[in-house]
Amino acid sequence: MDRDVKGHVLVLDDDDMVAATIGMVAESAGYRTTVTVSYDDFWSHLEAGAPSHVTLDLSMPGTDGIEVLRRLAAYGFGGSIIISSGLDRRVLDAARRSAEEHGLHIAGVLPKPFKANDLVALFALTPAHSRAPNVEPRGTPTADDLRRALDEGAITVVFQPKVRCATGAIVGYETLARWNDAALGPVSPVTFVTLAEREGLIARLTDLVLDAALVWLTSFDPHGATQVSVNLSARSLTDLDLASRVTETCARHGLTAGRLLLELTETASTDDEVTALEVLTRFRIKGIPLSLDDFGTGHSTLLQLARQPFSELKIDGQFVMNAATSADSQAILRAMVGLAHGLQMTVTAEGVEDAWTYAFLTEIGCDVAQGYYIARPMPGDDVAAWADGWRSTDQGAEPRP
Ligand code: C2E
Ligand code: CA
Ligand code: CA
Repeated sequence: MDRDVKGHVLVLDDDDMVAATIGMVAESAGYRTTVTVSYDDFWSHLEAGAPSHVTLDLSMPGTDGIEVLRRLAAYGFGGSIIISSGLDRRVLDAARRSAEEHGLHIAGVLPKPFKANDLVALFALTPAHSRAPNVEPRGTPTADDLRRALDEGAITVVFQPKVRCATGAIVGYETLARWNDAALGPVSPVTFVTLAEREGLIARLTDLVLDAALVWLTSFDPHGATQVSVNLSARSLTDLDLASRVTETCARHGLTAGRLLLELTETASTDDEVTALEVLTRFRIKGIPLSLDDFGTGHSTLLQLARQPFSELKIDGQFVMNAATSADSQAILRAMVGLAHGLQMTVTAEGVEDAWTYAFLTEIGCDVAQGYYIARPMPGDDVAAWADGWRSTDQGAEPRP
């Protein structure tokens, strides 16, 4: 008999009618169920019954739903959790995010009143143990490791395409640094960029990436219009000669300054704001466009947008990745596109992971898209084959929402 039972659902809801309904739905879907209206009973059932699923009312008199979720995390509950409540969707989403941060698996949130089918669909989502498995670094890189990697050419670059939303035309490629160390294994860019900034090695890293990007572009598309983007650390903005050096590097590779785009975050916190402003302005005067990266995260602010001479606004992936499921993110994206265009800037969205989001961005007038839906970052040698494939399938195709 037990073999046919799909799992064990433990239901907590102070409204006994609701609790009983959820219990009935679960039972008719093939689950063993335990229903309780009391918080104390809930814990004894949890310990005794080892449920595969828990449905939880967030707003119960005398208990705090967030505290329940914290306790479930501390207990190490590995099953699926369905949060139900009559609360505002935004509150439910926030509760879900904080629970996931604690490592709990939330199958979904169920606004009340709910449909039986929606609930059954949530039960069917098996615990994915969705937390990304922690990739154990084989050690923390030191400044000497990084110096050695820079000397030995262990830092390489990959390229991620950017395409025009309206037409699918390829407009450029973002250059991203990679370090796969022989002893340490792959080191995340966030780790080594931070290390380089702290240890005074950022100029070397930037030079290496810039050079690799331009070398690649001269062989891939010497006379065309595609751009390469390079990320520039705000730390570099204290260097007044940077703009001349970068322009000379472009010239040395036979490329006009406009073939390069520099992406920057967080210049507001640079020690010398006036110098930063001068360096940025010099880039623009020399014909190099500038993109304000990670817009919307607090590293890049409206103040920066208003004061500094950016030509592109790059919307942070967090807003983009949530767009398909969050009406809030959709509203924010619309506003950001309007803001950029109001300031005569182009707008790029990064982190585009699915067709729906790509179509949505096109509909709201976003200029350029970048993300796994279009392509993952790839070695320079693979770009030509990717571009051929992309042109034959997607360019000019009408994206469908
Ligand atoms: P970023 O400039 O915001 O770069 C975008 C990051 O998002 C890249 O991660 C890219 O691989 C990732 N990404 C792109 N599309 C998607 C998507 O659809 N979904 C998801 N989930 N992620 C996507 P990556 O390569 O790990 O780089 C992380 C950060 O490291 C970069 O963020 C940038 O701030 C920094 N970085 C990388 N290379 C350099 C460099 O050469 N110089 C400097 N200063 N910083 C660099
Ligand atoms: Ca970037
Ligand atoms: Ca970014």
